[in-house]
Amino acid sequence: MAESLRVEKIREFGLYIGQEDPQLNGLMKALAAWLDVPMAFVSIVDNETQFFKAKTGFDGEEIDPEPSFCNYVVSNEAQLLINDALKSKQFKDNPYVIDAPNVRFYAGVPLKLDDVTVGTVCVLDTQPHNFTDKELESLSHVSEHVSQYLTLSLKHQQLVQERSFIDDTPAALIKWRYNMALDLQYVSANMSTLFNIPSDQLRDGSKSFEDFLDDKGRKELNFLLSNHLAGVATSEAQFRLVPAKGPERWVKLLSKSFYDPEGRLENIHAMLIDNTANRYFERRLNEANQQMRLVLEASGLGTWDWNVPTDTNKVNQRWCELLGIEYANFDPSLYFWESLVHPADLKRVERELQAHMVGDTPAFSTIYRMRHAQGYWVWIETYGRVVERDSAGKALRLTGTHRDITEKKEAELLDTKQRQLLSFINKAQALYLNDKDLSKACQDILPELIEIADSQFAFIGEMQKRNGKDVLYIHAISELSWNEQSSELYKAYLRGELFFESLNNLFGRTITSNEVVLTNEPSQHAASKGTPSGHPRIMRFLGLPIRLQGNVVGMIGLANKLNDYEQSDATFLQPLLDALGALFYAVQLDKARIDAERRLKNMAMTDALTGVPNRRAFIERCQLLNDEGGARSVAILDIDHFKRVNDTFGHAAGDAVIKHLAESLARSIRSDDMVARLGGEEFALILNSDSKDKAHQRLEALRQEIEQSQVTFDGEQIGYTISIGALFIAEDEPANSDLEQAVLDHADKALYDAKKSGRNRVVWGT
Ligand code: GH3
Ligand code: MG
Ligand code: MG
Repeated sequence: MAESLRVEKIREFGLYIGQEDPQLNGLMKALAAWLDVPMAFVSIVDNETQFFKAKTGFDGEEIDPEPSFCNYVVSNEAQLLINDALKSKQFKDNPYVIDAPNVRFYAGVPLKLDDVTVGTVCVLDTQPHNFTDKELESLSHVSEHVSQYLTLSLKHQQLVQERSFIDDTPAALIKWRYNMALDLQYVSANMSTLFNIPSDQLRDGSKSFEDFLDDKGRKELNFLLSNHLAGVATSEAQFRLVPAKGPERWVKLLSKSFYDPEGRLENIHAMLIDNTANRYFERRLNEANQQMRLVLEASGLGTWDWNVPTDTNKVNQRWCELLGIEYANFDPSLYFWESLVHPADLKRVERELQAHMVGDTPAFSTIYRMRHAQGYWVWIETYGRVVERDSAGKALRLTGTHRDITEKKEAELLDTKQRQLLSFINKAQALYLNDKDLSKACQDILPELIEIADSQFAFIGEMQKRNGKDVLYIHAISELSWNEQSSELYKAYLRGELFFESLNNLFGRTITSNEVVLTNEPSQHAASKGTPSGHPRIMRFLGLPIRLQGNVVGMIGLANKLNDYEQSDATFLQPLLDALGALFYAVQLDKARIDAERRLKNMAMTDALTGVPNRRAFIERCQLLNDEGGARSVAILDIDHFKRVNDTFGHAAGDAVIKHLAESLARSIRSDDMVARLGGEEFALILNSDSKDKAHQRLEALRQEIEQSQVTFDGEQIGYTISIGALFIAEDEPANSDLEQAVLDHADKALYDAKKSGRNRVVWGT
C-alpha cells in the first residue's frame, strides 16, 4: 500500500532516472563540503530501482535498492545514522560495504513529497565519522527544502506547460496584481509575436503595456482598470497598439478581476485577441458608409434607418427637407411616418413593407405620396432593405433612401391623363358616330370623365330651347337620388327628359357667365343657392362651359374632387370641352341636314300650289304599289272647261279653284290612299283596298260633292265640275315594269271618254 502510494507520487512529480536537477546537484555539493563528506544524494527509491534526483561524489545512474541504506530509511520512514558500518552488526556484511563504493559512514533522512516518503537526502563516506543527532537534524532541514523545491518545481512545470499552451494560441495573456497599485505580474510570451511588442521588455518592467497605446487607448485602459478597482468583474475594450516597428495592430481586450474573500481586488487577468483584420473590415465598411453618406447627400437623397424593436427611425437632414419638416421637430416613431403617408397609399405601402420584412421581397422599393408641411403631396420613391435580423429571422433594422420624384411623377401622371383624355375624347366621338345618339355617348363616357377629373359627381348638359325658354338639357348625370322627388328626376333623366330650367344658381352661373366657375367652398360662392335638403354635400365644384364659336352651348359640372379644384383642371379638360362643343355642333349640323334633306325631298315631291304630292311622287308611289301588289283603283280627274274659269275670273281665280279641288280630294282620301296633282287642273287618285264598286261609289260621291260646291274668290261664286277616268287593278294582275304608264294611258283614255260623253261623270276604263 505504502509502496504503491510512493510509486504514484514519484510519477506525479515527474521523477525519472537520469533527470537530475542542476540546482539540487549544487545543493548536494554544498552539503557534502559543509559536512566534510565525499558523497551526498537526493535519492529516490522506486519499486525496483533507486536513482538520483541529485548527487555528488558518485558516478552511477541507479543502484539496486534491495540492500541499500536508503531503502532502510524509506521502509522504516525513519532517519538512519551509521558512523562506522564495519562496527554495525546489521550492515558489516552489506554488499555496498564489502564492495564498491565501500561505504563506512551513512547518514540519511526521509524525503517526503506531500507527506509520502519517496526517497532520502543522505551523505556517505568511505571513512567512519562521529555525527550526532544535531547534524542529522540539519540534514532534515535540507530534506524539507528539497521537498519544497520539488513541489514548487512541479507547479512551475505545470505553469510552464500552461503558458506554453497559451503562447500557441492567438490570444495573449496579461495579469496585473493589485498591491496598492496595479503591477504588471505576467505577460505571455506570444505578446511579442502577436502584437510585435517585445514581451521581455514588459516582463522586466522597462516598458509597460500603456507604452504601446495611444492617448485614447491609455485613457480607455485607465478607465477599464479603475472599473475593476471599483468592483466591475468583467470588462472589454478595443485598443490600437502602436508597436515600435511594423504596422499598427488592433486588439480586443477581455478582462476579469479576482477578489479575495473580503472583496478586495487581488488580480486582473486580461486576454488580448488580435482584432486587426476585423477592425480593418470594420473601418473599410465605415469608410464605405461615409462615402455612401456623402454620395447620398450629394444626390439629394433622404436617408432613413429604422430600428424595429425600439421603434426609432433615424433620418438625415435631407429627409426632413423633402417634406419641409424642421430637423429638430422630426419624431422618430413609425406612427409619425404613417401620419404623413397619403391615406390612399398607406395600406399598400404597409403591405409592401411587411412583405419585405418577412422576406417575401428582396427589397422595400416603392412609390407613394407624403404630406409636405405646407399641405401639398410629395411623391416619394423609397428604396430600403433589412440590414439586421435576429436568430429567428425577424427583421430588427431597415435602412433606405427617399427621393422626391414629384415633378417626374406629375409629368408622368399628366402624360397618362392626357393620353387617357385623348382616347376618351376619341371614344366619345366614336360612340356618337356609331349611333348618332349624343346622350348615349355622354352617358358612356361619364364614369371615365369622373375618374379623369378625380371627382365624385358629374353631369354633361346642352343648351336647348323649350317652349321658347333657354334650358339645360341633361345628356348624362351621376345617379344622385336621395328622396322621391330626386329619384323622379333621375327617372326623367333615364327617359331622356331631364332639363334644368333655372340657371340662377351655382352651376347655372357657368352658362349665364360663359366662364369657368371654380369653388372649393361652394356654400360661400356668390351664385350659391344651397343644395336641396338631402342632396349629397357638394364640397367642391367646377363648372366648365362648352363653347361653340365663343358662345356657350352647354356645360360640364364636376363636384367633390379629393383635393381642391385648380385652374389647371379646367385647362386640362379643355380638349374634352372643345370636343363636346364639336359634337354638339355636329348634332346641330346633322339635325339641320336632315331637315334640309326632308325639305328638299318634299319640295321635289310636292306640288307648290296645292301642297299635295306631284306627278313625280305619284309615279314613285305607283312603282312602289306595283312591287307590293294588291287590288286598287287609279283615277285621273280633270276640271271641265277650265279655260272658261280662267277666261271669266282670271288666272288667280283659276288657281283658287285648283286649290279647292286639291283640298276636297285630300279630305276625301284615307291614310293609305294617295292624291297627286299631275299638272294643270289634272289630278290623280289611288284608292287602295276597295272593290271596284266601292271605288266607284267613292268617286261618284266626290264628283257630286264638287258639282255642288262653290269656290268664293274676290266676291264671286265659282262653281265647277270634274270628269273622272278610272281603272281597276285586280290583286292577281301580273307584274309589269311599265304598269304605271299603261294604267295612266288607260285611265287617260277613260277620262277622254268621260269628256266626250258629256263631262261631269265617272268612266271606267279597261
Ligand atoms: P276640257 O273640259 O276639255 O278639259 O276643257 P278645258 O278648258 O279644261 O281644256 P284643258 O283641260 O285642255 O285646258 C286646260 C287649261 O288650264 C289650259 C290652261 O290655260 C289652264 N291652266 C293650266 N294650268 C293652270 C294653272 O295652274 N292655273 C290656271 N289658272 N290655269 C291653268
Ligand atoms: Mg285639262
Ligand atoms: Mg279641263
